[in-house]
Amino acid sequence: MVVGAGIAGLVAARQLGLAGWDVELLEKSGAPRPDGYMMDFFGPGVEAAERIGLYPRLAAVAYHVEAAEYVDPAGRPTSSLDYDQFARLAGGKVLSLLRPDMERAALAALEDVTPPPPPGARPLRGAGLPSME
Ligand SMILES: Cc1cc2nc3c(=O)[nH]c(=O)nc-3n(C[C@H](O)[C@H](O)[C@H](O)COP(=O)(O)OP(=O)(O)OC[C@H]3O[C@@H](n4cnc5c(N)ncnc54)[C@H](O)[C@@H]3O)c2cc1C
Repeated sequence: MVVGAGIAGLVAARQLGLAGWDVELLEKSGAPRPDGYMMDFFGPGVEAAERIGLYPRLAAVAYHVEAAEYVDPAGRPTSSLDYDQFARLAGGKVLSLLRPDMERAALAALEDVTPPPPPGARPLRGAGLPSME
């Protein structure tokens, strides 16, 4: 049983399922949370995603960021970071992902373990503590 269908719980449930475990995934929210900002995913995170076969799903929802610019309280640029240079320094693979997109990609990746639900099926069940299997 995995409690919490955030990024960690979804990926843990997928990996356990792929390893042959019969997994029940419990989530108290009725739907994925839409909140979150852009995060850069590189180095060991990218290597792990490649090893478990999640990289293509994450790359599909990644943004191409050209630069990050820092501004003062008046909105005047004070410094900037060239993302192509950053990506080269990080070994060439940097995924800029919105947190909710990453969560949705992890949710979609559960289909690697379980067959897709029949049309019209509710993805969550139970009152108060729904389950996503
Ligand atoms: C609003 C918000 C915005 C964020 N934005 C960013 C961001 O931009 N960049 C960044 O790097 N990080 C951000 N974070 C941090 C974020 O928590 C992590 O990046 C990431 O979501 C952590 O994943 P997780 O699976 O470990 O935990 P969570 O995403 O917190 O997932 C835990 C899940 O467990 C569920 N749960 C908890 N208790 C129970 C229970 N008793 N029974 C059933 N289900 C339960 C929760 O509802 C939740 O869905 C943000 C967090 C929040 C809350």
